[in-house]
Amino acid sequence: MPDLKETICNEVSRRKTFAIISHPDAGKTTLTEKLLLYGGAIRLAGSVKSRKANKHAVSDWMEIEKQRGISVTSSVLQFTYNDYCINILDTPGHQDFSEDTYRTLVAADSAVMLIDGAKGVEAQTIKLFHVCKMRGIPIFTFVNKMDRASKDPFELMEEIENVLGIRSYPMNWPIGTEGDFKGVYNRSKAQIELFDGGNHGQSTVSSTIGSVNDKVFADLLGEHHYNKLCEEIELLNLAGDEFDKKKIMSGELTPIFFGSAMTNFGVQPFLEEFLNLAPKPGFKKSSIGDVDPESDKLTGFIFKIQANMNPTHRDRIAFLRICSGKFTKGMGVYHVQSKKEIRLAQPTQFMAQERTIVEEAYPGDIIGLFDPGIFNIGDTLSEGNSQLKFDGIPIFPAEHFARVTASDSMKRKQFQKGIMQLSEEGAIQTFKQIDIGIEALIIGAVGALQFEVLEYRLKYEYGVDIKIQHLPFKHARWIIGENIDPRKLNLTSSTMIVEDNEKHHVLLFENEWSIRWAEERNKDISLVDIATNF
Ligand code: GDP
Repeated sequence: MPDLKETICNEVSRRKTFAIISHPDAGKTTLTEKLLLYGGAIRLAGSVKSRKANKHAVSDWMEIEKQRGISVTSSVLQFTYNDYCINILDTPGHQDFSEDTYRTLVAADSAVMLIDGAKGVEAQTIKLFHVCKMRGIPIFTFVNKMDRASKDPFELMEEIENVLGIRSYPMNWPIGTEGDFKGVYNRSKAQIELFDGGNHGQSTVSSTIGSVNDKVFADLLGEHHYNKLCEEIELLNLAGDEFDKKKIMSGELTPIFFGSAMTNFGVQPFLEEFLNLAPKPGFKKSSIGDVDPESDKLTGFIFKIQANMNPTHRDRIAFLRICSGKFTKGMGVYHVQSKKEIRLAQPTQFMAQERTIVEEAYPGDIIGLFDPGIFNIGDTLSEGNSQLKFDGIPIFPAEHFARVTASDSMKRKQFQKGIMQLSEEGAIQTFKQIDIGIEALIIGAVGALQFEVLEYRLKYEYGVDIKIQHLPFKHARWIIGENIDPRKLNLTSSTMIVEDNEKHHVLLFENEWSIRWAEERNKDISLVDIATNF
């Protein structure tokens, strides 16, 4: 029997926890599903299109997601492949929910950046890339939809460098980029892998693999493809970056893979190389120094809270990312923020729409804890150390604001409760206009669609109809300064003064110009753009 320390070391070394980031429609749902298919977690992949038509996606939970056919919140999927235990942190595809994605990235050890080969780097890819860059995690690139005519791969590499400022190293190279995708060339093994047509990607594809020097491939590919490949490999070896694992680990160099999630071409080679290179759960910064994942004491932090995931149960789930030690069902841990010892009785793990009770879990794993209302995003749980606190999770600044009231003033209580719970999930930020009654709340959100979600959830989960009056503000700034009466500040007429839940004064601005006005004419205050950390 291995002892606890050995078990934890073994489990840590087989864990890979990552998120896929992409612009909507690049194929994230499809790729996630194909990774599950290769991991044997699902038997047949349904085409995403038909699933969307049925308004179900593997990881969709909420009714609104089904209605709109988009993912609103992130879910976590765990599966195994070749003895690796893989946790995919799924994130919402729609850009209006990107704040949820930002927070989820805090729980990931690496990211897969998915790019549509015909479209290249898109707006949402850029935003999400920068959040990963900020965290310094390794970023792997999968260029998808190579079954269709794509941009020239060299051009894509240049685009990644120019737009995102990161150098790239192609791990494999596509053969046939004009809608005649045949396979990939594996650079480290100097091998060609040609894929068979298969059944439209419903099940795994078979392939023919061999040395690039094997004349059989010249025949199989035809002169045009074979010669082009040989020229391109030569060019890559001469002019491209060197493979540098250190740079990959620090997020300075991104390994690129080419493939097609839909037809499965290139999915398995990507998965295998990725698992080989991606980091295992590492040290995490905390108030008492870096926490070693292999330490035998459990630690973790809450990065996401989701209320009412199951409408029939009215429950609230806090997602815990385990950072060290071993979790066992029913164990007691110290909740650092409330200074209380708590028992983790009924933790759940997620596999698509199923939930199972977790008996044990290890660093890198994500578990859902039933939350009686004690957890907040950023909270630390720790076995036996009441001083340990993980670094906070950044709040992302709201860019959309609206005045929200309950249509029926008799429902004020439910309205307030609903708003409070949803803001604790982090999806909305609440403010109160000063000198005005509590009913007229100002809500800030990172994405405009959050207001629709708010309206829907308040109606169906709390029985409250609301009125939403959109406001033209784009920026919130916290006022820092001693004994400041915000009413006496020199501000443009369009600036609104509000306070946050902690009664800190906040200014809402319509544009950068009004921010500069406030800064230049009120020298005794400074304005900060977010509350940065919980
Ligand atoms: P998401 O919004 O990023 O989750 O994208 P989806 O996985 O839903 O894919 C968006 C669309 O692109 C769907 O119609 C998919 O069938 C299609 N798609 C995904 N992967 C591929 C691919 O490799 N090739 C082609 N031709 N289409 C793809």
